[in-house]
Parts: sequence; C-alpha cells; structure tokens
Amino acid sequence: MKELYHALIREIVIFAKRSIEIAKESTNREVKSWRPLLKTDEMEDFCCPGCGINHETRDFARAVILHTLAHAEVDNRYFEMLKENNSITPDVFDEFSKSNQEVVESKRNDEVDQPTEEPDF
Ligand SMILES: [Zn+2]
Repeated sequence: MKELYHALIREIVIFAKRSIEIAKESTNREVKSWRPLLKTDEMEDFCCPGCGINHETRDFARAVILHTLAHAEVDNRYFEMLKENNSITPDVFDEFSKSNQEVVESKRNDEVDQPTEEPDF
C-alpha cells in the first residue's frame, strides 16, 4: 500500500505541475483571468510574506486536483470498482452507467450542433 500511495502522490504532483505549466503558457483570455499569478523576471515575487508560499498557486493546484478527483468519483471505471467490490447495488450501478452514457452522448451532440473554440487549457 505504501508504494501505491507514493506512486499516486508522484502522479498527482506531476499532474499539478503540468496543469500549472499549461495555465502559465496559455494565451486564452479566460485561462489568463483565473490562473495563478506567478513570478517572472519582470514581476515581483507573489509568495506570502507570512509563510513563504504563493497561495494562488497552491490553491490552483488544489482546485485542479479536487476537480479531477470529483470527476474520478463519477467515472464509469470508479463505479466498476465499486461493483467489483459489491459496494453498489445493481440498480444504482445501472442508474449511474445510464446517466454517464447520457452525458457522453449529450457532449457528442453538443460538439456536432455547436462547435465551440477549444480552450487552451
Ligand atoms: Zn501565507
């Protein structure tokens, strides 16, 4: 379990690091409006004088991680895991599977009906 735990933390850090890099490099106006302020050569340091951490960056990374976790908890693979462990009733499993399929189909239809600009992020 310890190895799995450390492997997950390593992946989470890689994911958070890459998310910050993508947000930092983005030219999308919306992304620019909510990405964390980061130190550049021209800009001052945004680290908190009290604790030495850039709270915006830390909060951004936390939000990205929690957002991803929220998605994982409604992913079909997650429900399959619950099913394999007899931890979800067949009715609820079917309900979530059907609901997820409807969301996937709805997104596909939206893409066909209303093509939108892909965000940079
Ligand atoms: Zn602080």
